[in-house]
Amino acid sequence: MTSQKKVRLEKKPIAAPLLDWYDRQGRSLLWRVKEVGGGNALANPYHVWLSEIMLQQTTVATVGAYFQKFLQMWPTVEALAAAELDDVLSAWAGLGYYARARNLHKCALEVVALYGGEFPADEAALKALPGIGDYTAAAVAAIAFGLPTAPVDGNIERVFARLHRLAETMPKGKPTVKKLLAVEVPETRNNDFVQALMDLGATVCTPTKPACLLCPLKGSCQAYRDGVAEDYPKKAPKKQKPTRHAAAFLIINQGQIYLPKRGDKGLLAGMREVPTSAWCDGPLKRQDEASLLAAAPYDAGWQRLAGYVRHTFTHFHFEVAVYQVSKGAGTWLGAQDRADVHRMADLDDLALPTLMKKIIQHAE
Ligand code: SF4
Repeated sequence: MTSQKKVRLEKKPIAAPLLDWYDRQGRSLLWRVKEVGGGNALANPYHVWLSEIMLQQTTVATVGAYFQKFLQMWPTVEALAAAELDDVLSAWAGLGYYARARNLHKCALEVVALYGGEFPADEAALKALPGIGDYTAAAVAAIAFGLPTAPVDGNIERVFARLHRLAETMPKGKPTVKKLLAVEVPETRNNDFVQALMDLGATVCTPTKPACLLCPLKGSCQAYRDGVAEDYPKKAPKKQKPTRHAAAFLIINQGQIYLPKRGDKGLLAGMREVPTSAWCDGPLKRQDEASLLAAAPYDAGWQRLAGYVRHTFTHFHFEVAVYQVSKGAGTWLGAQDRADVHRMADLDDLALPTLMKKIIQHAE
């Protein structure tokens, strides 16, 4: 293996072969405008923004159906802004990370209020909108407006880590990738250049077994030249995720279930939930259970169901002991706010987080 060389901000001849490859091999995606013969048509900013928000943490294959559904329900950003938040959350159900859906709606409202329904053609102004971070602002600016900027996602990190044999671990080395990428941004067709890089990372320069022989950039790629493509990007050792625990209290009676809304802040904010105790650090121990039970919404004959529900969030594992009420639920349900009591038959229409679905399924 040859030794790692110092990174220089040298321009590699990648734009022309990459664009040529994109014209022949680039993916046809619902939110994408691809002109036969490599024209320079720009995509609809609403479509680009919507798809980029959906694609955060979700695969292209999953996003397709959701993207179509959203466009059918809300064909424009004005229509989305005029929608009820609960309808947006319901349509989003299954994509996870509901904070994204809330921000999606908030962002649509701001685009209408501040910009008359037109997304601003300015990266900084895009970044100031709710739910739009560095990556999405650069993606919309480049793809929808052709501006000379480029987003850096995991795919693009990988391509550049290999092109330059970067010694820095990812994602820590992202600023270096940004600098290297900035040098490559072409004067024309930057919208296609960016999408071509995304496609190359997704379909050719894959995490394992990259198809280097089919790659239009192999002539410029140091990792390929040195036969070490799969050794890049370098990764920092994975941190162990902590485990947290809680008890959940299922109140189901005569085909009805109690699902109040969580508070406005924190994880799963504003989503409907099976009520839980506080979420505590550490795995659940038998001696913790008495104190968890003290958090039950009312005094009743709670019965502990066997086993645990386990769910993993981005930053921690979650272990839930599920209790179900055996007596008095009917009376108690009758005393609750009717908006929080739902028919079990209607569960599919509610925007229930996956964790809550798992808890309900545990009882079934
Ligand atoms: Fe990735 Fe191989 Fe292409 Fe290099 S030659 S960019 S490692 S697919």
